[in-house]
Amino acid sequence: MNKQVSEESQNLNQKDSNDFKFEDLLEVNDPNLKILGKGSYGEVKLYKHAETNILYAVKIISKDFIRKHSSISIILREIRVHKELKHPNIIQLIKYFEDSEKVYIVLEYASKGSLFRIIRGQKGLDESKAWHYFSQTCLGMKYLHDNEIIHRDLKPENIIIDKNNQVKICDFGWCVQSNEVRTTFCGTMDYMAPEMLLGEGHSFQVDLWALGILLYELLHGYAPFRAVKDAEKRQQILNNELSFATGTSSLAKDLIQRLIKTNPKDRINLNKILAHPWIAKFAITHDLEKGCLLKHPQFDIGEIIDVTGLVCKVKFRDLTAMIAIPDALDMEYIEEQPRVSVSEIENEVFGRLEKWCKTPVVSRKKLQDIHIPKLDLSSLSPEKIIRKRKGSIEFFEEIVERSTYHKENGEARSPEKGHPEKRKQEHAVNKPSAKIDHFGGIFENNEYEVLQKKRLNKAKKFESRIKGNFRLPGENLKRNVYTEESTNFQNVFDVTSKIDISEEALESKVAQLNGYRRTLEASNRDRVIKKKDTSFWGSLFGCLDR
Ligand code: ATP
Ligand code: MG
Repeated sequence: MNKQVSEESQNLNQKDSNDFKFEDLLEVNDPNLKILGKGSYGEVKLYKHAETNILYAVKIISKDFIRKHSSISIILREIRVHKELKHPNIIQLIKYFEDSEKVYIVLEYASKGSLFRIIRGQKGLDESKAWHYFSQTCLGMKYLHDNEIIHRDLKPENIIIDKNNQVKICDFGWCVQSNEVRTTFCGTMDYMAPEMLLGEGHSFQVDLWALGILLYELLHGYAPFRAVKDAEKRQQILNNELSFATGTSSLAKDLIQRLIKTNPKDRINLNKILAHPWIAKFAITHDLEKGCLLKHPQFDIGEIIDVTGLVCKVKFRDLTAMIAIPDALDMEYIEEQPRVSVSEIENEVFGRLEKWCKTPVVSRKKLQDIHIPKLDLSSLSPEKIIRKRKGSIEFFEEIVERSTYHKENGEARSPEKGHPEKRKQEHAVNKPSAKIDHFGGIFENNEYEVLQKKRLNKAKKFESRIKGNFRLPGENLKRNVYTEESTNFQNVFDVTSKIDISEEALESKVAQLNGYRRTLEASNRDRVIKKKDTSFWGSLFGCLDR
């Protein structure tokens, strides 16, 4: 390599160094380095900043060529999408310029060239090296998919490697930013998913297929569908004729097979890829574990509830998210276990449930299976559990109140305004012919019967669904489920006569749960959230020869 050219100035402030005009860049004349690549729309050439000596790859596209062969909007889309992307595994678009003839896209320079160049001529990489390239490609792709971008042309030629052996996904010429199903035929035959070949409409899953092909090619040195003629290759793809070289590990095969699935819906997504045992097998150890608290720039503090491979599941206040490990390690985080964990709070709530039902809850899983929307805790953060719990308290209170009413045979304490019984009393005076159900609904003509029939059918279905899983106290149970969204009673367990819970007990429970919440908040507050001083990228990906 030309010495003068390879010397990059490391000391310059990146922000200032990116503030330049196209005239400040000089073409590098070293014949070995001059042209970095040739694509369908033009060339990628090496340029150097005249003052800072920083090297850039400049993708030069002829406007005339675009007008003849396609449309200028494709280049505009490439720039529009690419300039917003910022991730260690996506090549950075620094600037773009144009003159009357050409468009110039100035990119961060990846000096080791394309992955295609690295794997060409090799009979497959060993698994740890393949893991290095594949896992970083997946991290970059997760970033794209999380931002609703489909790359649509993922292949070794569009994966380039920088001087630190870090993977950089490039070429956003075919990408789309949307959730809609697309029908444009694009990409490269070897990496093309069956739904794209058939023109059936495609979405994010075409990238998952391409990742399967990529992993196969990294391990074998060739792509899985190898026919020379396109028509034959097409048939091989549609038939999914996949065979592995002896020596391919079963975990790698498993991952490839989960990606190269004919039906796009059957392919595993990027979170699952990053948690796959093959990815986990080579993942470098780090400090993050279940119970750590993270401070996400957008979602604030969350608790890690699972770590597998290169991804962790984090419960934030309002949502549960899958965060890539390198991203999580880039955030501020607390290594110790919080004093009160989400699971403790969950235990408490389940404990309450058991008490409420007066029967052991067979298992949490089963309880969640029967899916009582109001009490489905699987996706809740602590605050939300408590909020939901509060909702349940109101619900309990109503039941207790009704139960008191029934017990005392209509002689309950005077119902408050708005209470079903109050409405019933009021209505009996105004419209004696109307029927009123015991939730306070007022019905004319046969509306009531129709509704009752619906409720009964729903209850029957519900009953058969939960049969054997869950036993409720009492025999003659009317079942109604309460959905929070509609704030209507439909299908909740109506256990009016059997409930044995005092309001004081409930209140003390609420106080206890609120106490937990406060402790959790305090435990977040009085801990020093620290940021790792070393970059995770260095430690994770320094394993290859430089
Ligand atoms: P095509 O559509 O045919 O895939 P393209 O015209 O869209 O190609 P790119 O894929 O972006 O162009 O780039 C072509 C080649 O140039 C890449 O395969 C790579 O070898 C090289 N290249 C692109 N960007 C860089 C970069 N930033 N640093 C080093 N080499 C690069
Ligand atoms: Mg390309």
